[in-house]
Amino acid sequence: YPELLDVIVIGAGMAGISAAWRLSEGGLKNLLILEASDKIGGRIRKHDFSGTTIEVGANWIEGVGGHLLNPLLPIVEKLNLRTRRSDYSHISSNTYRQEGGLYPCEVVKKVLENAEASSEFGATLSATLSSAGEDDISVLASQRLFKHFPSSPLEMLMDWYMNDYEDAEPPKITSLKNTVPIPTFTDFGPDHDLVVDDRGYESIVHYLAKEFLKKDHYIDKGPEIKLNKVVKEVNQLSDGLTVKTEDGSSYKARYVVVSASLGVLQSNLIRFKPELPYEKTFAISKFDMALFSKIFLKFPSKFWPSGPGTEFFLYAHTKRGYYPLWKHLEEEAPGSNILLVVVTDEEARRIELQPESATTSEIMGVLRSMFGKNIPEPTDILLPNWWSNRFFRGSFFNWPTGVSRHYFHKLKAPFGRVYFSGEHTSELYNGFVHGAYFAGIDSANMILSEMLLQHKDNRSPEDNQ
Ligand code: FAD
Repeated sequence: YPELLDVIVIGAGMAGISAAWRLSEGGLKNLLILEASDKIGGRIRKHDFSGTTIEVGANWIEGVGGHLLNPLLPIVEKLNLRTRRSDYSHISSNTYRQEGGLYPCEVVKKVLENAEASSEFGATLSATLSSAGEDDISVLASQRLFKHFPSSPLEMLMDWYMNDYEDAEPPKITSLKNTVPIPTFTDFGPDHDLVVDDRGYESIVHYLAKEFLKKDHYIDKGPEIKLNKVVKEVNQLSDGLTVKTEDGSSYKARYVVVSASLGVLQSNLIRFKPELPYEKTFAISKFDMALFSKIFLKFPSKFWPSGPGTEFFLYAHTKRGYYPLWKHLEEEAPGSNILLVVVTDEEARRIELQPESATTSEIMGVLRSMFGKNIPEPTDILLPNWWSNRFFRGSFFNWPTGVSRHYFHKLKAPFGRVYFSGEHTSELYNGFVHGAYFAGIDSANMILSEMLLQHKDNRSPEDNQ
């Protein structure tokens, strides 16, 4: 190892890898990436679930078909990665009552239209608040202004579907001014492409990594990337920066990029010496690391409808967000007999904490309501732990009501020569993989500019002639 590295990047998720990629494009080769887990990709992670490749983290290329090109699409094309456009247009025909049986399609359509009208009102109001310099309000407050009060199980389900399914937090928490409309969809387009390739979504991250890592040094063999290195301290007390890991290693660099999630920054996994300024810690605490979880179940046989227009189905319950959104995998993995169900926020946390048997039994109760008493028990279940995993502490950033852009800029601001990256530092596209991609490039560009300035400042007067 060189005595002094140019840059250490903490974290090998999309942001860390795109930062390293950009830094090396900018001419730096003396880089080291320290990753806590045993693989790159972070919250993009495939898994072999009973013989079928599934995505436990990010699954969709979000924002496709608009006036700007989602930056992930050219890589998808280069890799010839298999994707499928998700079609939610049949939701109204696939919504189940708590007590069993489907709601009439027309009834669901009407409730969904009301929820959509309320969202459209919110988008207009949000623009008005911003241009008039008015205070922020919650998405819930905007619903009240529109006289939209979801209260029946079906209305609450559609409210969850329209809001929590994207934000992973309920409308009473989410900021209207800063999240409505979502720039990802207004810029890159309204569509969602599901990655359904056995190489996994993570192959996009691997592609970028291969662009800058020497082939024979790829992953854990060379000096550029080190796995299973949990950073515990970033010290800039002395001249230069020292990064210490839990296994007792220590590395020196001129600059550091921290790309660990907002949830990790909110925990005490990484200590900063000197401590981060109060305003920065305050900003880190003000934003939310929301929780969005996908539970996968494998069955010995299929008992749900399949064929065109059946992929997604919803379940209404008096308890809002109780196992609300379901998807079968018959299109991408025919015959796999796998279902996934999405839960968010408090429900996801509750489920993460309870024994697997309790979750299986709740899920079977829901499935029996929808499909009858005689359905088989699952042969396998996969419960994610995004919240309790100390390397993530949640799934993605959400902007709560009343937190101004001032704090966002503090969240992103460098501290000395320590730069902060990750999806949560993307002002427009936070929460998404492409947000992480842009955030990495942004942090790298900041460092490259800073280095250039330093270089100019250090030039002697003769050099300038
Ligand atoms: P991360 O992926 O979290 O990378 C940070 C890395 O830092 C991790 O690898 C972590 O192990 C490492 N690390 C943490 N602490 C330390 C430490 N102390 N020392 C060293 N390394 C450390 N986005 C979409 O666009 N589409 C989707 O469909 C989608 N669905 C999602 C579903 C789920 C369940 C989840 C969890 C997320 C989803 N997202 C989705 C969000 C998307 O995955 C993230 O926004 C993006 O992957 C974040 O990348 P990142 O590099 O900022 O952070």
